[in-house]
Amino acid sequence: MVARVEPPLYCILLGPPGAGKGTQAITLSQDLGLIRLSTGDLFRENIAKQTDLGLRARAYMDRGELVPDDVTIGMVLERLRRPDCAAGAIFDGFPRTAAQARALENALAACEEGIACVLDLEVSHDVLIERLGGRWMCRGCGASYHVSYHPPTVAGKCDECGGELYQRPDDNPETVANRLRVYVEQTEPLQQFYRERNLLVVIDGEQSIEDVQQAMRVAMELARSRRLFQFNTRRAMPPIPQ
Ligand code: ADP
Ligand code: AMP
Repeated sequence: MVARVEPPLYCILLGPPGAGKGTQAITLSQDLGLIRLSTGDLFRENIAKQTDLGLRARAYMDRGELVPDDVTIGMVLERLRRPDCAAGAIFDGFPRTAAQARALENALAACEEGIACVLDLEVSHDVLIERLGGRWMCRGCGASYHVSYHPPTVAGKCDECGGELYQRPDDNPETVANRLRVYVEQTEPLQQFYRERNLLVVIDGEQSIEDVQQAMRVAMELARSRRLFQFNTRRAMPPIPQ
């Protein structure tokens, strides 16, 4: 029997704070057997452990600004070198600037790899405010809940790992306003960056969590087939149908 060789699959979840990236990335990464690489979670882990990186990142996060590119890129490239990334990764919250997008593209190209798809969650401003205002997050596994839209079975406790739920300090109204501004200025231009590379798939993020999940799963399965085709034929990937 010939063993089936699958190339690594790298996908990006793009979208403003509160769009549902974390919610979807957790389920998709379990379904597809890929790690979820959330830069926000990595920074929060470093803050909890009081590492130098965490201390440096905290001031930016508290203000709702982006952590400088050199720090963020260094952290992601180090994470990607670990063996559990061999099958690929779902990036959640990275890249957020043009410099980060180029650094990721170059790092993957150096291993003859590339991004298979960028799923862009579209959610309107007012809905984002409501979602972030009611978000509760698990200290243990980073799962997201919402007081009205996605409440935990037991108040204050994570359904997945039993961890304690808390409200993020940067989910207060002033910091949220700044984070949304920063998104428009620095991250939204990445839509064009990835559209030019035929990788962008826009998904209506205002559907139910289940319907968004279904749309993302279909897009990622398509990306996986395209990646397999390219890997086996050594040809350029055909564009994603729009
Ligand atoms: P992000 O990781 O993009 O910042 P989250 O996944 O943490 O966003 O989701 C933000 C908030 O919105 C959470 O409270 C989450 O439970 C809720 N949420 C996520 N997706 C949906 C959805 N499709 N419909 C309603 N609420 C959602
Ligand atoms: P998130 O958990 O994705 O909402 O990110 C929380 C905060 O972490 C952001 O507001 C930033 O301060 C910081 N952060 C997360 N990812 C990045 C990134 N790719 N580049 C710079 N800062 C980031």
